[in-house]
Amino acid sequence: MIRLSELSLPLDHPADALRQLLLQRLQIPAADLLDYTVYKRSYDARKKNAAIVFVYIVDATVRDEVTTLQRLADDRHVMPAPDMHYYPVAQAQHALPERPVIVGFGPCGLFAALLLAQMGLKPIVLERGRDVRRRTRDTWALWRGKVLTPESNVQFGEGGAGLFSDGKLYSQIKDPKFFGRKVMQEFVRAGAPPEILYVNKPHIGTFRLTGVVETMREEIIALGGEVRFESRVSDVLINNGQIEGVVLSDGETIASRHVVLALGHSSRDTFRLLHARGVFIEPKPFAVGFRIEHPQSLIDLARLGPHAGHPAIGAADYKLVHHASNGRAVYSFCMCPGGTVVAATSEPNRVVTNGMSQYSRKERNANAGIVVGISPAEDFPGSPLAGIALQEQLESIAFELGGRDYCAPGQLVGDFIRGQASTHLGAVLPSYQPGVTLGDLAPALPDYAITAIREALPAFGKQIRGFDREDAILTGVETRTSSPIRITRDAQSLQSLNTRGLYPAGEGAGYAGGILSAGVDGIKVAEAIARSMLGIELSPAASIDRP
Ligand SMILES: Cc1cc2nc3c(=O)[nH]c(=O)nc-3n(C[C@H](O)[C@H](O)[C@H](O)COP(=O)(O)OP(=O)(O)OC[C@H]3O[C@@H](n4cnc5c(N)ncnc54)[C@H](O)[C@@H]3O)c2cc1C
Repeated sequence: MIRLSELSLPLDHPADALRQLLLQRLQIPAADLLDYTVYKRSYDARKKNAAIVFVYIVDATVRDEVTTLQRLADDRHVMPAPDMHYYPVAQAQHALPERPVIVGFGPCGLFAALLLAQMGLKPIVLERGRDVRRRTRDTWALWRGKVLTPESNVQFGEGGAGLFSDGKLYSQIKDPKFFGRKVMQEFVRAGAPPEILYVNKPHIGTFRLTGVVETMREEIIALGGEVRFESRVSDVLINNGQIEGVVLSDGETIASRHVVLALGHSSRDTFRLLHARGVFIEPKPFAVGFRIEHPQSLIDLARLGPHAGHPAIGAADYKLVHHASNGRAVYSFCMCPGGTVVAATSEPNRVVTNGMSQYSRKERNANAGIVVGISPAEDFPGSPLAGIALQEQLESIAFELGGRDYCAPGQLVGDFIRGQASTHLGAVLPSYQPGVTLGDLAPALPDYAITAIREALPAFGKQIRGFDREDAILTGVETRTSSPIRITRDAQSLQSLNTRGLYPAGEGAGYAGGILSAGVDGIKVAEAIARSMLGIELSPAASIDRP
């Protein structure tokens, strides 16, 4: 296959225009272009008043590839397409006496289980929360009725933390083996829109993700895997530095010498348990802040100018960074175009914000976290678990400020910058359910974070006109931006530094930062386990890079 890049066409181009452009660039007759697929489609909106065009990268199959490549050798936008096919590292030929155990069924556990099942290793998945249908009802009970189910909510349950999300499916990880492609292909096979394979910033939205996750679970079971809900791992059995099994909260023991910990960033009780059992854990940086909401039309206008609202582009996003004079970096996090702010706590008497969208991204507001980076050395020294304690403290303060009923504390941007409490809303209506209690957000975060965000908002207003408008609304607190710990693993074997057979993975272990990277990490650990269980040597060429 031949890969061609920089193929530009107008937003409204006719269906056949890409094929015609390909023929022109390849300088071949129509009969010699056997097939083509779009590898990537992006648009460039940097020059707002110039026409926005789609820019394609296409993989084409032509009749005489070698000659065509030789003829176009001087064109730097033409090259042989890389082989992105996924090749499993192993295939079990018969049932093994041992089954790998996966703790957690978020994207990391899901892909670890799927790959192990596809390789014939019949994994057992243990998930503390409920299946997607019951979990959805439990989550809505908090949003609509202020009733939290601590084991079944935005963080816990089938699909993990990414289930109620914007479903953004992009990442900046290095991916030399195209595992991200495998993740996307599996999502599409399970019902995700095929465009996620080629649009530049694909997203899938909450509603569609639910069906996709169910379909993937069915495949794991059909391949001999087992998926058990309401199965919280409450202890781990370690003997002489080797994992030998896990214990569930009802007392059942499941023996295995290969256990994946795909816990996500919110399983604080499990982190404490692992620490108490001596599993090596170290603190890591994360970020804290607020969610901000604006009318989506304001963002569209600022980003797309006269092309705002064009149906081929959809709701615009943004990414902002400001280096504050107190040395802190303030940045936008998990921006959700046309979405809603959601109550994302998994613990009683705590308030946490996050954002989600449906596939259509048609809600009136744009939202994003506006967060400040914090680090163990500077901000939470001491125990490896000190970051968790800080998160808990901030989430409890937010609960108090919100009125002790899961409403989020909120403040208008103008009032926040001036340091005065808000008493009434402007034109921007907050989307957080079950509601927002207006007041002063200054007590919700450490002073350095408040100072940095106060400085950043007007700076962001210079990049996106109206970003610091008087009545844009802040809600808080945004504390679960990533894991506050790393369950460190060996870069080659992917096993815990001091516990053989234990594979810390995904976001909770500090090896992923989103749905796609968590899925990729799930594939990596599945391969490492397959190698270990089937006795395949890890050659240097097959070594797995640490992200
Ligand atoms: C509201 C929201 C919106 C988001 N939006 C996006 C987005 O648009 N794009 C994106 O890339 N990322 C998004 N994220 C982040 C993304 O969801 C996470 O990065 C991703 O889900 C991490 O995957 P994971 O499998 O490592 O962990 P998780 O998805 O957190 O899954 C961990 C699972 O482990 C289970 N578990 C924990 N402890 C135990 C135990 N002791 N026993 C049994 N089971 C246990 C939990 O119940 C959970 O289901 C969002 C997150 C939230 C909360």
